[in-house]
Amino acid sequence: MPWSFTIGSIAGTAIRIHLTFLLFLIWIGVGQAMSGGVAAGWSAVLFVSLLFGCVVLHEFGHILAARRYGIRTPVVTLYPIGGVASLERLPEKPAQELVVALAGPAVNIAIAAVLVLGLGATLDTGDLSRLQEPGQERLAARLLVANVFLAVFNMIPAFPMDGGRVLRALLAMRLGAVKATRVAATIGQALAVALGFAGFFGNPILIFIAIFVYMAAGAEDEAVAFRSATAGATVADAMVTDYASLPLTATVADAVESLLRTTQEEFPVVDGWGRPAGILTRPDLIVALRDKGEGAAILDVMAPPSDPLHASEPLGKAMEVLQASGRLAMSVVDANGRLVGLLTSANVAEMMMVRAARPDFQFRRRG
Ligand code: ZN
Repeated sequence: MPWSFTIGSIAGTAIRIHLTFLLFLIWIGVGQAMSGGVAAGWSAVLFVSLLFGCVVLHEFGHILAARRYGIRTPVVTLYPIGGVASLERLPEKPAQELVVALAGPAVNIAIAAVLVLGLGATLDTGDLSRLQEPGQERLAARLLVANVFLAVFNMIPAFPMDGGRVLRALLAMRLGAVKATRVAATIGQALAVALGFAGFFGNPILIFIAIFVYMAAGAEDEAVAFRSATAGATVADAMVTDYASLPLTATVADAVESLLRTTQEEFPVVDGWGRPAGILTRPDLIVALRDKGEGAAILDVMAPPSDPLHASEPLGKAMEVLQASGRLAMSVVDANGRLVGLLTSANVAEMMMVRAARPDFQFRRRG
């Protein structure tokens, strides 16, 4: 997700903070300083720093559990409602995902146990409502409340909370990953709506959390559907092979003809050997037509070609390249460097529809 930046790295895992997490910390710190004086402000800063530490430890619970199954975690991102460890891949077995998901809240329970047994902290139910208020002296008691809150809150069965993953893992044991994710995401979004509704009558920060949970549930559903649709597929499986290209000798008039005849918005330009030599987009074509006229050479108005994708590349990786490039389509070449197709985001949407209808559908080898 955008809006986050890296603050450091531990054991090969980069720690990123989402901007909203930082705003949340500032909101708590400044709020306490304004209502309770500078000392209360500093006390809040100390508290939120320790709380931040607990969140990091929670995430490393997940990360170390995942490592047991040979899964690395390149990035962990901290949000106001907790952290999200971006595992390199999902655990293959639902039982493993269950262990990885439970490892985070287990860390908070362990911290809570240390606070109770080691520091003699006690859980006062009144503490929960006073978490945002100044003047609480007993740091250990507040940390205890925070860790119990972290453990309980993360077990809410909605993505991106661990409870959502626990629910998905339990459902996946019977339904398979894609269906389990869809059901878990739907339950999560329903909970988000209920949470947002409660926010109107209670703490308004619930509305903010609800919006976040709703979006995260949808993103998780999409990501899993995408991974599943592209698993084992190559660029050749999904690319458009029925497309118009322009020879280097073409004119703007030829390009206009192709524009009207097809639904394409980008035209690859190929040289005499069939290799990509450039790309002509619809806006560039229209500008060229207006400024240079229909007789102008394509050579003078096309943009240089982007680095082409190879037909044998894994589709999932190629789609990431396409999305990062911001282009509508990318050229696909064969082993000899000749243009054999175009990859568009619409292709992948179509593939996902096909795989959703028939998960075992075999794509014909093309290109
Ligand atoms: Zn967690």
